Amino acid sequence: MAASNLLETLRGAVGAANVLSEGDLSAWELDWRRRWRGRALAVVRPGSTAEVAAVVRTCAAARVSVVPQGGNTGLVGGGVPDASGTQVLLSLQRMNHIRAIDDANLTLTAEAGCVLQTLQEAARARGLLLPLSLAAEGSCTIGGNLATNAGGTQVLRWGNARDLCLGLEVVTAQGDIWDGLSGLRKDNTGYDLRNLMIGSEGTLGIITAATMKLAPLPAATSTALAACDDLSQCVALLKLARSRLGAGLTGFEVMGRFALDLVARHFPALPQPLPAAPWTVLLEQSDTEGEVPACARFESLLGATLEAGVVGDAVVAESLAQSRALWQLREAIPLAQSEEGLNVKHDISLPVSAIPEFVAATDALLARHFPGVRLVNFGHLGDGNLHYNVQAPPGADGQRFLDEHEHTINTLVFDALAPYGGSFSAEHGIGALKRDELALRKSPVALQMMRAVKAALDPLGILNPGRVL
Ligand code: FAD
Ligand code: ZN
Repeated sequence: MAASNLLETLRGAVGAANVLSEGDLSAWELDWRRRWRGRALAVVRPGSTAEVAAVVRTCAAARVSVVPQGGNTGLVGGGVPDASGTQVLLSLQRMNHIRAIDDANLTLTAEAGCVLQTLQEAARARGLLLPLSLAAEGSCTIGGNLATNAGGTQVLRWGNARDLCLGLEVVTAQGDIWDGLSGLRKDNTGYDLRNLMIGSEGTLGIITAATMKLAPLPAATSTALAACDDLSQCVALLKLARSRLGAGLTGFEVMGRFALDLVARHFPALPQPLPAAPWTVLLEQSDTEGEVPACARFESLLGATLEAGVVGDAVVAESLAQSRALWQLREAIPLAQSEEGLNVKHDISLPVSAIPEFVAATDALLARHFPGVRLVNFGHLGDGNLHYNVQAPPGADGQRFLDEHEHTINTLVFDALAPYGGSFSAEHGIGALKRDELALRKSPVALQMMRAVKAALDPLGILNPGRVL
């Protein structure tokens, strides 16, 4: 089918206003990190599952590939078209209706293009919690969260997006609709298609709706900051916090000294309530009993850790505003880092117990190879996920440093993970950025099974080609 015929058929399927092929399309063609700029044959914006199915059927018949996109906040170049000008960018943004909230079954069913924060707010308005939380929540969509199996800051208590999902509605590569929107917590009826789709980054099917688990809203959430001399102390603090707070511990984020120095330099208005320390931990606790017992529990925990010498200094937020300010410190790190210049980003995970040894050894390794290199190390220590980013030495040209050394740095860091059984992609996925690493680092057996699944579900290879595999 000629391109003009294809566009005509797509206009017939979703309405002319929802097929964009001219003008500035950079909102869809340029990724959040501004690292990938593609060119789409057209941006197509269906408004219903039936329309998504019609678009995929049309593209399959014309052998035109389809790149699904939600909020375009992905960090691995998976959601923007390539530069060929031959791919259809399928935006789910217009599919933004909440279909149901069931407060007895504790579930929420919503279309894929709903922004995560909108869903959190809708749940909260019903006295319920959707416990998925990440810094991009004001823009990312639930479809994108599931397609990437997003993690975020509450994984130690609630798991990743996968652990919160009960059912999916998916448009297949043939343009059929699979209605798997179950709200069941027990359903052992054959292969788990839902979990196959989750984390498949748009390469196996297009998620059009999802049923997510909810929880009762906690009566209070409190936040504290603690300073530690080394990462072993942070891990000791985590163990103590787990045993004292149990399921009440909902956040445990670590921030290295240099990461907070960058925040101080680029966001001087953000207060840093503790004196600079090698490591600062942000703890969050959710409580069903209310504010006062929550704060008391925190104070008793931190008192005990101060006494045991695990923590050098600590502060508990006394108001919601103070709590917000502590989280802002953590959330400002990626922004402060981009203000400082380009850097080599890593999203790695390890068993928590191995993290102190890994970081000491890998810091030393990088310092030997690249004298003066600076490590912006922060992340979700409670679930073993570090954003272990490498910044050029002071005064060096960031772009040149990346051009010359990014590949070597990746190899050093990823090789160093292997003895600990760590992962080179903890929560951001593979996309285009890490496709070659996947081919290099997964076992031949795992790759063979992945390729077999892809070939079975998408034999024409039209769904997000060149991503993941
Ligand atoms: P997009 O960027 O639009 O797409 C991401 C991938 O999913 C692409 O491969 C795309 O093709 C595919 N896709 C999107 N929608 C669908 C669909 N409906 N069906 C099938 N495939 C689809 N991630 C974390 O895990 N944890 C974090 O803490 C975190 N923090 C972040 C902080 C910031 C400031 C930013 C910018 C990003 C962060 N991310 C984080 C990464 C990103 O936000 C997540 O990957 C998010 O889940 C992507 O959602 P999205 O709707 O923006 O997806
Ligand atoms: Zn993260």
